[in-house]
Amino acid sequence: MSKIELSSRQEKILQIVKDHGPITGEQIADQLNLTRATLRPDLAILTMAGYLEARPRVGYFYTGKTGSQLLTEKIKKLQVYQYQSMPVVVDESVSVYDAICTMFLEDVGTLFVVDKNSSLVGVLSRKDLLRASLGNSNLEAIPVNIIMTRMPNITFCHKDDLIIDVAEKIIEKQIDAVPVVKHTEHGYEVIGRLTKTNMTKVLVDIAKDEII
Ligand code: ADP
Repeated sequence: MSKIELSSRQEKILQIVKDHGPITGEQIADQLNLTRATLRPDLAILTMAGYLEARPRVGYFYTGKTGSQLLTEKIKKLQVYQYQSMPVVVDESVSVYDAICTMFLEDVGTLFVVDKNSSLVGVLSRKDLLRASLGNSNLEAIPVNIIMTRMPNITFCHKDDLIIDVAEKIIEKQIDAVPVVKHTEHGYEVIGRLTKTNMTKVLVDIAKDEII
């Protein structure tokens, strides 16, 4: 949005509405010596982008919002489901050795641990597994549920939560990933994960003006 390139005609329309709004599409067209139909796509773009507001039977208003204000509004509205990725879960009975193998095979930095009802019970980070490996030669004998971070100390989110709120939690708690959960009769089912990499994607999309 910050980079939205307005055409010279769109700039002219903005100026007319700024100076004379509220003003109808017909009146704008008259001022520019164009037909209402020619102007329609430009008015639609300016309205959709948030520069103008259209009120039925009154006309177009200038919202007074700058490109960066409109961009900020969009960023604040982003929701978890738009950027979440697939979660990788392990059963709480698996060994530290198996968890390490899963982490390598699945190429993730955080594993979520579930019980027999598939409910979230723990989180395993790379350092949790490294710590458990230090000085322990028999990693197959240690179940992950004795080294994981467990409920109720897990920071989680829902798919409809705002990305900005989760980003703040990630910073505040100094963690790399947050499980996306769904409430079930047994607890919380893990349906996704939101990681620092997903947050980096948000940044790239902002820079490329590709956020919806
Ligand atoms: P690493 O430990 O590899 O640096 P993190 O910074 O994600 O990775 O994890 C730091 C600690 O926080 C670990 O002990 C981990 O179990 C815990 N942790 C990671 N994610 C969460 C989460 N969503 N909720 C609660 N604790 C978490």
